[in-house]
Amino acid sequence: MKLVDLPAETITCKNLVGGKWLPSSGRFLEVKSPYTGAVIGKVPMSLATEVEDAVQRAHAAFAGWRRTPIKERCQHLFRFRQLMMENIDALSNRAAAEAGKTVAEAKAGIQKGLEVVEFALSLQNLDQGGAMEVSRGVTCQVSREPLGVVCGIVPFNFPAMVPLWMFPIAVAVGNCFILKPSEKVPLTSQMMGDLMMKAGFPEGVFSIVNGNVDAVHHLIDHKHVQAVAFVGSTPVAKSVYTRATSLGKRALALGGAKNHLLVVPDADADLTVKGVVDSFTGCAGQRCMAASLLVAVGDVDPLLEKITEAAKALVPGPQLGAIIDRPALERIEGIIDRAAKAGAKLKVDGRGKKPGDAAYDKGTWLGPTVIDGATPEMECAKTEIFGPVLTIVRVKTLSEAMALENHNHYGNATSVFTTSGAVARYVSQNATNGMVGINIGVPVPREPFSFGGTKDSKFGQGDITGTSSLDFWTNLKKVTTKWAAEADHNWMS
Ligand code: NAD
Repeated sequence: MKLVDLPAETITCKNLVGGKWLPSSGRFLEVKSPYTGAVIGKVPMSLATEVEDAVQRAHAAFAGWRRTPIKERCQHLFRFRQLMMENIDALSNRAAAEAGKTVAEAKAGIQKGLEVVEFALSLQNLDQGGAMEVSRGVTCQVSREPLGVVCGIVPFNFPAMVPLWMFPIAVAVGNCFILKPSEKVPLTSQMMGDLMMKAGFPEGVFSIVNGNVDAVHHLIDHKHVQAVAFVGSTPVAKSVYTRATSLGKRALALGGAKNHLLVVPDADADLTVKGVVDSFTGCAGQRCMAASLLVAVGDVDPLLEKITEAAKALVPGPQLGAIIDRPALERIEGIIDRAAKAGAKLKVDGRGKKPGDAAYDKGTWLGPTVIDGATPEMECAKTEIFGPVLTIVRVKTLSEAMALENHNHYGNATSVFTTSGAVARYVSQNATNGMVGINIGVPVPREPFSFGGTKDSKFGQGDITGTSSLDFWTNLKKVTTKWAAEADHNWMS
């Protein structure tokens, strides 16, 4: 059984600086495939001088890039999109190999990322501002101006898609972008960097620096870095946002989540079972929009039985990806253990489940797990688990369910499964999260609708994609012009 193509040789990551791939003199970490535990790459922890070099070269590139007309900038992005499409199978394999996703999930993530590229390409034809005669002989004009050097710090769970949320829009509007990939999954970015260079982006417009905390701090603190986009866990999102804004910089930091799915008795069985199971098991639950807490409203036991049976049938490997690494697996197994000890019932226990092929025995696998009878105070009901684990809390009324949703300190997604328009309307009006699903388990908005949560799932204004991201990546420049009033002018002289 072959689940994924692992790289034939260990890949040593380089930094992309000033349009060239440069080796780093920093220490290296191993990149292991969650499928087998095998080392498939080495990633450097870049030195401060290497980050400095990348920022300086990006800064030097900005003068020319900002003056390049958007239509010309987008020609490079068109070529990049084409190259991504031509290489999508290799990219999907690479992302799956390092992040543990199934290849199909990795491909879907790239396709979603390419939708953001298409949105960025549409910017060349959108109104970039406007002009108006505001009083006799006086015109006000507004235009969107790029900021300069901007950076993006990204998590492990979408090696291609999350970077693609950021850099296509950032460079299309004229910024020079520096990507800091997750040190757990740096290999897909190496491929995307190659494709950005093949697409003809001028040197320094798109750069990559590898590393972890130190590289992030060097980027945030550098005087030439104007804006910091971050996606990752809530504590780090908060600290990155605080550090950047305390230096007077623009920051948008997306954090973790604990998404609630409300199931009411009138829900359509097929839609609900598929929606809930896909949501908590897709990407092995390692996505910030994954279902985590099922709030069962009233008697929905027949639906819960079907959800349990469908989850039980999923086989790790072909149908369910692996957990990113052993510490993450052990953390999740600990939460399951403590849930059982606290009195919840493990209706499905995925611990120890593997693909059943010795080639993958050393991978970090966890089968679907369903914890029933949890109380809202239990760790499994409150914590972001980030694995294929569904916790069920039972309540009597919809208002009790909404009280739980409102109490959630995270704010990414809330979904309700119902055939009642009134219930759907009540939930969507009263939900405090940023993205609401009606009969949708993973309510990720499609472009041009923007992606972003509320509360502890997002620090900063606006969203990371879509039209609302433009205010993050640009400044508005207002030009007021006064000419001689035409009535006084003798055009015949
Ligand atoms: P993480 O916070 O551990 O790491 C994210 C990035 O921050 C990495 O590039 C890492 O090198 C860097 N980093 C780690 N510690 C740092 C520190 N102390 N200071 C500065 N930078 C630091 O997150 P992760 O484990 O890679 O990703 C999983 C998390 O990301 C989950 O919580 C998930 O919900 C969240 N996530 C959120 C969204 C969203 O849109 N809200 C999307 C994807 C993932």
